[in-house]
Amino acid sequence: MDWLERVVKLRRWANNGSRAPHKPLLLLYALGSYQRDADGELRYSVVEEELKRLLVEYGPSNPTTPAYPFHHLVNDGVWEVRTDRGEGSPGAGIGVLRSSGAAGRLAPGLRAALRREPSLLGRLVRVLLDTHFPPSLHQELCEAVGLDLEGAETGTVGGAGAAARRQRDRRMRELILTAYEFQCAFCGYDGMLGSTSVGLEAAHVRWWSHDGPDEVDNGLCLCSLHHKLFDKGVLGLGDDHRILVSQRFVGRSEASRQHVLGLVGRVVIGPQAGAARVAGRHREWHVRQVFHGAARVSERLVG
Ligand SMILES: [Zn+2]
Repeated sequence: MDWLERVVKLRRWANNGSRAPHKPLLLLYALGSYQRDADGELRYSVVEEELKRLLVEYGPSNPTTPAYPFHHLVNDGVWEVRTDRGEGSPGAGIGVLRSSGAAGRLAPGLRAALRREPSLLGRLVRVLLDTHFPPSLHQELCEAVGLDLEGAETGTVGGAGAAARRQRDRRMRELILTAYEFQCAFCGYDGMLGSTSVGLEAAHVRWWSHDGPDEVDNGLCLCSLHHKLFDKGVLGLGDDHRILVSQRFVGRSEASRQHVLGLVGRVVIGPQAGAARVAGRHREWHVRQVFHGAARVSERLVG
């Protein structure tokens, strides 16, 4: 059985010509769950809300239900569903999936193949991501379904460490975004798509890879642009929580002026009262290790 081939064959388009990420999203979710608990089951009534959120965030705009992939993915041979009465899916109806106690997990053959060959997990995830989603979404999709892609690709699957790491990532994101009230600490951006924040990320000030803790005083809620510029050392944090902009950054357009140069010397927005601000030691680490050289001086101060 070539599992990669089966996964590649999941179709990308629905008959009405709209994008069809429903099955790929469910399969990614199931692979994430497998990584944490190889034989665990996903009860429809328990995971329905989370699957629905995934579809809203990463699916096309037409309304859709997770019941459809939950039932139909069985036909692709990679997923099985059983109910309180025994094997087999009760159908694609929301009501019957809930009332029958329907629960799904990866098909037995696929679970056996993953046990024999742990690196298969990473390859399956890659294929799903590459076939159905743009690279800019890969990392956050893995976070959303609780997948440790790095662990999957190196074959260290099911490791308690990796699973714990994923859980911490999700918790850190929740903590930071809440502390900063779902607003970019640099520009104030607070966009929503429906009821979900969009384009906002939790940034580590001292990088996690370099001993930065998952704590509110080591985090900032930043929009995607400012997160990237912060991690690249264009932006930094100075004394009194004022924003630093590198002298080496050049941007001549109005947009660059507004989104970057205009930040010079501005005070960080947030966090809300009671939440810890960025600790001096983490701020200093970032200035020393990441920020690019000298900071620009505010035009207001130059006079
Ligand atoms: Zn921003």
